[in-house]
Amino acid sequence: MPRHIRSAWFKTLATLTMVLLLSGLAGWALGDAWMGLAIAAIGALAWHYWRLRRVLGRLTARQRWEIADGAGVWNELDRVVSRNQHEMRVRKRRLLDMLRSYRAAAAALPDAVVVLDRNSQRVQWFNEAATTLLGLHHPGDLGQALVQRLQPMPLAHWLAGGRNAEPILDVPSPVDPAIRLNLRLIPYSADHWLLIARDVSKLLRLEQVRRDFVANVSHELRTPLTVVHGYLDMMDPEDFPGTGPMLEEMRKQSQRMAQLVEDLLTLSRLESQEAGDAEVVAMLPMLATLRREAEAHSQGRHQITVEDHAGVDLLGSIKELHSAFSNLVTNAVRYTPADGQVRVTFSREGDGVVLAVRDTGYGIPANHLPRLTERFYRVSSSRSRESGGTGLGLSIVKHILGLHHARLEIQSEVGKGSTFSCHFDASHVRARDVAASLHAED
Ligand code: ADP
Repeated sequence: MPRHIRSAWFKTLATLTMVLLLSGLAGWALGDAWMGLAIAAIGALAWHYWRLRRVLGRLTARQRWEIADGAGVWNELDRVVSRNQHEMRVRKRRLLDMLRSYRAAAAALPDAVVVLDRNSQRVQWFNEAATTLLGLHHPGDLGQALVQRLQPMPLAHWLAGGRNAEPILDVPSPVDPAIRLNLRLIPYSADHWLLIARDVSKLLRLEQVRRDFVANVSHELRTPLTVVHGYLDMMDPEDFPGTGPMLEEMRKQSQRMAQLVEDLLTLSRLESQEAGDAEVVAMLPMLATLRREAEAHSQGRHQITVEDHAGVDLLGSIKELHSAFSNLVTNAVRYTPADGQVRVTFSREGDGVVLAVRDTGYGIPANHLPRLTERFYRVSSSRSRESGGTGLGLSIVKHILGLHHARLEIQSEVGKGSTFSCHFDASHVRARDVAASLHAED
């Protein structure tokens, strides 16, 4: 107990003792000491009850009160109560200010922010941008089920995913289909979710402009290149003595440019393409083609093995899947020195399948692996160019696998070799029609 409280307490006790003593003496002088004591005790009790009532009144009252200067324990209690109430009021005000400024910040965000009740998925709060981007209105939409309120958007299934819901990258706004939105769900407490909708229309438009530009440039380059290439082919070094090596180099470079343009056009087409209708991709003939291509590239310099352990076929685009697998196989041959091995295996993996291309080639340092599928990313530019690479092959592979909901995994060790594997889920696996496969192989 602090010292000033202890001394107030003793003062009150001393005052009470004095009052009782003086009353007892006064009673004794008047002939009845006990009567004097009793009257004083009742008076003191009444006074203490009155102070207690006053403290209770002050505790429940909302306004401030004047504190008397007296030193007794009741005045001390008044002071403590008043100080605590003042501190509480200040803390409350600070919290309210903080809450208000957070709300103002969330309200001013250019992204739509909606607070949802996790169980009922009803709207609890939303900011101004939610009105312009999602069409929610105050106060009518508070307490409404979000899925019903944003009916045209495919949200029911998405919200069911909760914590695991992947962001929806591009969805038209219910206010104006020209506004494209990116939606994210953030479960930020046990009972609340935050839905954030961002206007990505500008970003998508820019991306489209970039894609169109690359496609147009590539397209425009195609014709002049074909012409140059054609004339170069027609020129006989014997007609122009001394120009043999020069003509050869020009032919090589124009071929490289033509391949580059073709790869860029393929990438543009893949980028603007949605997953198409799936056809059955018979894997026996596909593996046989890959073997032929690998052997043609290798020209007998490598040991090539192709194995089918899966006994099933794939669903997807034959042309695109062939292009992806063929890219991996030719890379394996190109980046493996003579006498190395290239092994293609098609096998089951749970309900899905995996096509893996392993080589015993140069390998890739670990720091390059995360960026390998970027356009024009090469570990060694000279080695890539020497072997006729454009730097776009793995980028094309990644896009094709993306369209088939498959993923590319790369493992590699420098000096030991690399494994590029394409993992397909069960939805792209189809039981093999043996008769059709045999027929196709013939
Ligand atoms: P490129 O046309 O240059 O081969 P890719 O996109 O196909 O372009 O490959 C990108 C880079 O990844 C290559 O330049 C090469 O450095 C590396 N790479 C690809 N496949 C292999 C492999 N099997 N072994 C070693 N390096 C590889």
